[in-house]
Amino acid sequence: MNDVRFDGQVAIVTGAGAGLGRSHALGLAARGATIVVNDLGGSVDGSGTGSAAAQAVVAEIEAMGGTAMANGADVSDEAQVRAMVDAVIDAYGRIDILVNNAGILRDKTFAKMTMADFQTVVDVHLIGSANCTHAVWPHMVEQGYGRILFTTSASGLYGNFGQSNYGAAKSAMLGLMNVLSIEGAKFNIRANMLAPSAATRMTEGLLSADVLALMQPETITPGVLALVSADAPSKMILGAGAGCFAEVQVRETAGVALADDQMTPEAVLAAMDQIRDPEGATPVEHAFAQTRKFARMAAAARGLP
Ligand code: NAD
Repeated sequence: MNDVRFDGQVAIVTGAGAGLGRSHALGLAARGATIVVNDLGGSVDGSGTGSAAAQAVVAEIEAMGGTAMANGADVSDEAQVRAMVDAVIDAYGRIDILVNNAGILRDKTFAKMTMADFQTVVDVHLIGSANCTHAVWPHMVEQGYGRILFTTSASGLYGNFGQSNYGAAKSAMLGLMNVLSIEGAKFNIRANMLAPSAATRMTEGLLSADVLALMQPETITPGVLALVSADAPSKMILGAGAGCFAEVQVRETAGVALADDQMTPEAVLAAMDQIRDPEGATPVEHAFAQTRKFARMAAAARGLP
């Protein structure tokens, strides 16, 4: 296995002033990448701003002999993101890696949540990731190389009480990542997702001290470096925490084909065990692959060619 190195490459890590982003930035820098340490510097709920956190991480990278710049763009603001990307191209001439990591929380049950809080969380996570990706995309296309990581969450993939805004934003990234991995393939742009579980200010107080001690951000960063490396897969969802790594997979069961005279809700309920049978479930390569599968099954059930 070749050493994973990023010499000569430029990486933007959003929300890199603290927690997971800081760890990913330091990990990339330790293996040769020039880093853009983006961070708005606000609190967990997104209020406030400050440049100290990003500057401190730049100082850490410089102290280990690396190259980095701080950037305070709010990822949810398209103009600020475009200005950040322009500044990076002016300074370094390329962008090889984008780690979409910036994030906030505004937890409440759906009944108590204001739509303003719903919107703000979607704006930072989903629109923020789309803004950054859209701004770097033409540079990656021109280079014929790009590695993009989205940071999802178990909350989006599996659900978590009180996080309808966050869960919606995090799972919407899956759709974005799926399409970009398809559209990026011919330009050697690969897109993947990370579902981390880490001890940061976001999870403070939620887990015992023993568990938090195992869940340091540095135990996740090796997975990030793998997903943005030259040998990265594409369209992968990597669950990561405490040095454990597992793939989250979206699969479709073999399913059933109902006859013309059985197309009733009663027949669907009666066939539910078979519809949900995980035996023989497979990944579906893209949207029309599902259409073709159903057309094939329906034709076969009717004895058509
Ligand atoms: P964190 O609060 O330590 O770090 C998030 C960083 O993003 C902060 O430094 C913050 O200033 C920055 N940020 C917030 N809004 C921004 C904006 N609009 N523009 C630029 N920067 C902004 O939290 P963390 O746990 O390190 O979270 C990192 C990412 O991982 C987030 O996307 C989070 O949702 C995700 N995540 C974390 C966990 C976990 O267990 N900690 C689990 C699942 C997903």
